[in-house]
Amino acid sequence: MKKDDCIFCKIANGIIPANALYEDDTVKVIFDVGPASEGHVLILPKEHFDSIYMLDDETAAHIFKVAVKVAKALQKALPLEGLNVVQNNGKMAGQTVFHFHMHLIPRYQGDTVNIGWKPGEITPEQIDALKEKVAAEL
Ligand code: AMP
Ligand code: ZN
Repeated sequence: MKKDDCIFCKIANGIIPANALYEDDTVKVIFDVGPASEGHVLILPKEHFDSIYMLDDETAAHIFKVAVKVAKALQKALPLEGLNVVQNNGKMAGQTVFHFHMHLIPRYQGDTVNIGWKPGEITPEQIDALKEKVAAEL
């Protein structure tokens, strides 16, 4: 399904022209318009999914296959020294376009990309409690 008011539906399906790096029946890979670093690309499914919770297995598997393919190409073509795969779900997590997309962000010495967190603490009892709660939903 496509969503009429969704910019990434329009880009992924050619309604708004985009300079695609890669395209197949399921996805389009585009350059981010506000790149965090040189070579920052987005993998967009052609179908509309708001976020990760809605993805089907086949599309999810395909997106990751394409991520590997494009990551290898970026690594060969650019002098990157690292690469972050980022995928935001929900406003709280920094999602600003509510059509599932995966970021591939090349990393360079001295870049200004900021991805990280301060490690917290957890006890074995807390892990057990979390595991019980979440595993019940798998
Ligand atoms: P997120 O914060 O994970 O939702 O990421 C949305 C990303 O989409 C941002 O990095 C934007 O720069 C990028 N973006 C928004 N509109 C466009 C567009 N028309 N073409 C390419 N990238 C876009
Ligand atoms: Zn969409």
